[in-house]
Amino acid sequence: MSEAAQTNLLQPGQSITPTTGSRAPLKVKIPKVLSVSNLHKSYHKGRLHVPVLKGVDVQIHEGEFTAIVGQSGSGKSTLLHLLGTLDAPDKGEIWFQDRRIDNLPARQQEHIRNRKFGMIFQFYHLLPELTTIENVLVPRMVQDNFLSYMRNKKKYLTRAKELLDTVGMAHRLNHRPSELSGGEMQRTAIARALISDPTVLLADEPTGNLDGESGGEVMSTLLNLQRTENLTIVMVTHDNAIAEKADRIIRLVDGKVTKLQS
Ligand code: ADP
Ligand code: MG
Repeated sequence: MSEAAQTNLLQPGQSITPTTGSRAPLKVKIPKVLSVSNLHKSYHKGRLHVPVLKGVDVQIHEGEFTAIVGQSGSGKSTLLHLLGTLDAPDKGEIWFQDRRIDNLPARQQEHIRNRKFGMIFQFYHLLPELTTIENVLVPRMVQDNFLSYMRNKKKYLTRAKELLDTVGMAHRLNHRPSELSGGEMQRTAIARALISDPTVLLADEPTGNLDGESGGEVMSTLLNLQRTENLTIVMVTHDNAIAEKADRIIRLVDGKVTKLQS
């Protein structure tokens, strides 16, 4: 008997069908949000061909917090960029919910990227001349046309404040990035990534530039958001202590996924 069956825990992707009672069978299935199959990616440096991903299969389920770990150069960022349609694979498929996305026209990929994926990186990429709350509003300003932005501005402001409160930045709304600590800048970047209410947050080494304490706070913030926003999170990290707080760890070694832990 599998461990899941012994403990009666519902596993991602598994359905349960109660057999007793007069009502129609109840099916509960945790849907897949992102999946990749047989993903290959190489880079070309002059005449040199550098294979990075050599047949990666990964499935990410709704509400799951997955950490991708592996040595420097093992292809973690490459995989995350492919998941977020920032780059195209040489071979293989990437699916978002029920839709294959790696072969969509650029404009459709951009639409999905802007509306369904939030992204954060090791360096926060905040605009230095804008305040915290203005930085959080930037994706809405870019995505909406002027009239639509003005019509919805009050709603966006309320949501930006709510998110900044959730990430512990309510007391720094009008500060500029130069007046913030690294951890505060990253928490602002998290709020900005969530202003469009994405389904998935993709994070590339979000604690990589922070000391242990600030990194721990950023991780706690992400774990809290996973719960309160029902967010699916895929996070690349080389920090095992941080990775162990996720629901699941995917390890990349030599271009392949070697070990899955739950
Ligand atoms: P990780 O994030 O695990 O450190 P990356 O995915 O950034 O690894 O990189 C994997 C490998 O691919 C490295 O050897 C890196 O030098 C190479 N690489 C990454 N991006 C490029 C690029 N744009 N052009 C050429 N080589 C690249
Ligand atoms: Mg990287």
